[in-house]
Amino acid sequence: MRPSHTKALVDLIKQYEWRAFHYVYDSEEGLYRLQAILQALDDRYKYHVRMRRLSDVTAAHEDLRALDKLNKLENRTETFIVMDLSKEKHYPKVMQQVREVGMNKQGYHYILGTLEFLNLEMDRYQHGGVNITGFQLVNYSSDYVREFLKIWKQIDSDIWPLGGYDHIPLEAALAVDAVEVIQRTIVQLFTNYTSLYQLTFRRGEIYNYNKTKGVPCVDPPVPWMHGEALMRGMVSLHIPGVTGNIQFDEFGFRRDYKLDVYNVGLNNAPSKVGEWTTKHRMVYNNDTTTTMDKNLTSDSAYKVTSIMEEPFLMLREKPPPDGKPYVGNDIYEGFCADLAKQIASRIGIEYEIRLVKDQTYGVLVNNETDEWDGMVGELMRGEAQIAVAPLTINSERERVIDFSKPFMDIGISIMIKKPEIKKPGVFSFMKPFTWQLWMCIIFGYIAVGIGIFFVSRFSSAEWRRLPTDRKLAYNNFTLPNSLWFAMGSLMLQGSDDTCPRSASGRIIGGAWWFAVLITISSYTANLAAFLTIEKLLTPIESADDLVKQSEIAYGTLRSGSTNAFFKDSKVSTYKQMHMYMDTKPSVYVDNLNQGIQRVRESKGKYAFLLESVHNEYANNRKPCDTMKVGHNLNSNHYGIATTKHLPINTAITLAVLSLTEDGTLENMKKTWWIDKGECQFQTGHRESKKKSLSLSNVAGIYFILIAGLVLSIIIGVCEFIYFKSKPERVPSAMVYMMPGVDSDCTDDDVPEEVKLANHRSSNGPCSPVNGNAGKNNYFGYLTQYSPPRITVDVDSNTAV
Ligand code: ASP
Repeated sequence: MRPSHTKALVDLIKQYEWRAFHYVYDSEEGLYRLQAILQALDDRYKYHVRMRRLSDVTAAHEDLRALDKLNKLENRTETFIVMDLSKEKHYPKVMQQVREVGMNKQGYHYILGTLEFLNLEMDRYQHGGVNITGFQLVNYSSDYVREFLKIWKQIDSDIWPLGGYDHIPLEAALAVDAVEVIQRTIVQLFTNYTSLYQLTFRRGEIYNYNKTKGVPCVDPPVPWMHGEALMRGMVSLHIPGVTGNIQFDEFGFRRDYKLDVYNVGLNNAPSKVGEWTTKHRMVYNNDTTTTMDKNLTSDSAYKVTSIMEEPFLMLREKPPPDGKPYVGNDIYEGFCADLAKQIASRIGIEYEIRLVKDQTYGVLVNNETDEWDGMVGELMRGEAQIAVAPLTINSERERVIDFSKPFMDIGISIMIKKPEIKKPGVFSFMKPFTWQLWMCIIFGYIAVGIGIFFVSRFSSAEWRRLPTDRKLAYNNFTLPNSLWFAMGSLMLQGSDDTCPRSASGRIIGGAWWFAVLITISSYTANLAAFLTIEKLLTPIESADDLVKQSEIAYGTLRSGSTNAFFKDSKVSTYKQMHMYMDTKPSVYVDNLNQGIQRVRESKGKYAFLLESVHNEYANNRKPCDTMKVGHNLNSNHYGIATTKHLPINTAITLAVLSLTEDGTLENMKKTWWIDKGECQFQTGHRESKKKSLSLSNVAGIYFILIAGLVLSIIIGVCEFIYFKSKPERVPSAMVYMMPGVDSDCTDDDVPEEVKLANHRSSNGPCSPVNGNAGKNNYFGYLTQYSPPRITVDVDSNTAV
């Protein structure tokens, strides 16, 4: 009948964030429960638990003192004790001794595993400063219990020892409910199975089906034949009772029950602070929290510390519509001003925003005295209770103050001055290939031209007969023709009738075409990107880039979590960065504005390390000359900070969560970051913008075309002038050398028209080429056929 309070204990421990506590118990059962508690604490290695078993609950002074002494030895200022005793009646006994040994002062916190907190006379503890939390199963304000107590009060306490009072001990309440359960089950059993009565109960006696009398108490005992049916009936029961809703799970344990959570503290009579239910776990009452909370809400408003940081908190610029000056919290605007307002209205508290005196976030300034500056210090010293600011959650701070669940995700990022945007030049069509590749193409072109020239010379397939004189053969692949063929292929144009017919020539041609195909396709694929992209070439892209160079200085805020991150980091890059910054303290800045200004003014020679949301905001403000580079260095969050164990912590967290869930925070972020943005483009997104190609991107190719045209006109004019002075219009014949071909060249052999064509040659048509005398060097003349061809007498295999 007694519901388990293990999960409720776990939730309280988690809620209070007791990382180190004493677990005091007095029976095996307590030990089992501790095991269950440790298993239920998510990361049990984070918890430091000391167990102490009380061998005699009436003589626990020594155990309590020993426990206290241990705590003092460890220099702990606060003592957290979970007391989990096997019987309700043990609690008053041990608590009495707690008073006697003086462990009922400020600094002592207890969670009691009792389920009858209200019967413990807790009002005795409201002046010592101790803080005690426990559970109450019987809900005296429920109608059922009130009705029941009316009868309970009237019964004779001489006959019924616990009755006759206006309250009921837990044991009695459980017994009452147990009887109720049995009675209801039997009634239900009889209703569903009417003949059971006749078979089982006769003349006040219990019978079995086999007609034997009574429950057979033999050895080994045999269960009563109806036991199982009765059990099944009880498990399926769902009734109200003195101890609340009565329902059992399949194993016969209580389910769907509720425990009221009570607390007593300094000047705070035992009061209900919340409820623990199996369904919703711990739910706190916002209006009936503890003394501190009550005092604050009634006497004075919560002091909320914050820091002037755009767009989190700023002084209102626009005058009010009615002309009256702003007062109180209204003088501020910004994300944090809105957030504080939303949270206060959701949890129903008054607050007053005060700017942090030293305008810093907070770092540990003195290790020995655990002294902090900034907002963290103000919370620790009690100068403020809440900090609503872009305050980063980190483990060092979590040790001394409490944080709500995060309201914004951030990470440390790098801000630099935006570099000039590089426009593609007029020769950007050259960019798709590196110069090495261009050289390869040129050499390939020359090699193929020469290669095909040579192989064609040796191959008979390339020699054709002259249509006018079948005795004569000619070869198309002169050197210029070969080069022209290679050029035609490269430009995907082909070259008229100059096409290889020999196998060797075709192999070279095929290989060249394949190379050209791939080259041109790759070029085309790359070209678009190089012609249209306006590239933002940033000098650094990451923290590693920063470390590797010495030209650009970099720094962080002097006091804050970003600085602490680099200081404590074990990553070598960040360690090096910290070393650099520490050896050059001038890189630190006092506030974010100073850092951003420094980036803007130092012509790209200073990079600022700051949290991403500040970075994004500043980049979206005029003069729009800063940008964020690279990924965030870490991932972190902003949370609302409060003094340790402020009773409204949970309420604040719940409010933050509901603001996140209903999208309010997202909207607020949009309002202050996007809607108030002043720059057209977000940094780094220019590349993605589609643009049509402009002349400036491709002007280079027209320069080449113009140069080609001009050159050809000049050469044309030169040719004209040159040939004008000569009467012959026939182009000069050319002589080719072809080793191995015997030539009997005499002037008589040469046809008249060829002679005419060679008129200009001072030495005559059979003259040695390049001054190399000797018949064997000739292989023939070129006739006036155009384009120039090599002609050979086929019969005599003699070149003519
Ligand atoms: N938000 C940071 C903090 O809480 C400030 C920073 O160091 O960047 O300390």
